[in-house]
Amino acid sequence: MRASPLLANALISAVAALAGCGQVDDPAAAHDAPAEPGGDAGAPDAGALAPVYVVLFTHIEDSTPAGPLGTEPNRAGYLAMRRTLLDMAARAQAHDLTWVLQPDWKLLEAALLYEDAATTASTGGKNVLRYLREDLGVVIDPHSHENGGYNYTDVAHLLEQLGVGGSTVIGGHIWDPALPEFQGWDRFRAPVTGQRYPEASWRGDILIGAGTPNHVNDPLVSGVWRPQDRDHYFVDDPAGNIVALGAWHDQVAGVDELVALRAAGDVPPDAMLTASWNLQPATLTAPGGLDDVEATVLAPIAAMRDAGTVVATDFTSLVATWRSAHGATAYVHQP
Ligand SMILES: [Zn+2]
Repeated sequence: MRASPLLANALISAVAALAGCGQVDDPAAAHDAPAEPGGDAGAPDAGALAPVYVVLFTHIEDSTPAGPLGTEPNRAGYLAMRRTLLDMAARAQAHDLTWVLQPDWKLLEAALLYEDAATTASTGGKNVLRYLREDLGVVIDPHSHENGGYNYTDVAHLLEQLGVGGSTVIGGHIWDPALPEFQGWDRFRAPVTGQRYPEASWRGDILIGAGTPNHVNDPLVSGVWRPQDRDHYFVDDPAGNIVALGAWHDQVAGVDELVALRAAGDVPPDAMLTASWNLQPATLTAPGGLDDVEATVLAPIAAMRDAGTVVATDFTSLVATWRSAHGATAYVHQP
């Protein structure tokens, strides 16, 4: 991707402000991923080992599509990304795996501009986001680096405008209050007003992808809990009105670790173990990238799902299962 010096500076500050997104080419950068849209993420069978809950997701950053909105290169970039998203969704669906899409504001403003009769001819007359959700089973949540004049509420508002709103997932944030980029997740204890769209109001209540800028010092944690406050993020407060999910690490190998941990009896039988990561757009759009994702992520996760050791889900369904099947019992695994 080419960028002007001005845009490059904007990108650098955006990257600095948005930890855990893998906006920089960093294959080790991790986010989390999803499962069954709106459904039960699956409860453990009596007598069997509880599964590890895995969410596969993709962040579309606020640099995409590149260039000013309304220009031909921007439109071309949008249409190319559109094809990639449809291809990825079809592959996830073929493996009966939930895939979660978490776009920042720019892709959504582009969709409002470019999803016309000609564009939607390939998607049953629906905009691509609606088609992904309604026809291909994709779960869609907001993602926001809160740059460019847009905050999380604005992204949630744009999703509503496109007919795919309703998620209360805060799709990635800088968790560490000691960092200047700290995103103040505790704002969401109460509804937050939009910045670009001040008439909009939204209260996210599921935190995923607790990160640090460029993911250099992301916390290693698996489980589900309610962070007590900004200075005690990993302490559960049963009265807390925001739930956090641990991302864990190392993608499929990390899931293997958690399955082994479970099998060894090293965690309480009813504790929910979680892992999620970002299948980055740069990976999906690379030559052979989708084939690679299918071979190295979708196939092995589907095999673990078939073996009963993993449930692949989305963040909202995961939390619903935590409440319904685990009595909202917090567990924070931090080795
Ligand atoms: Zn991001």
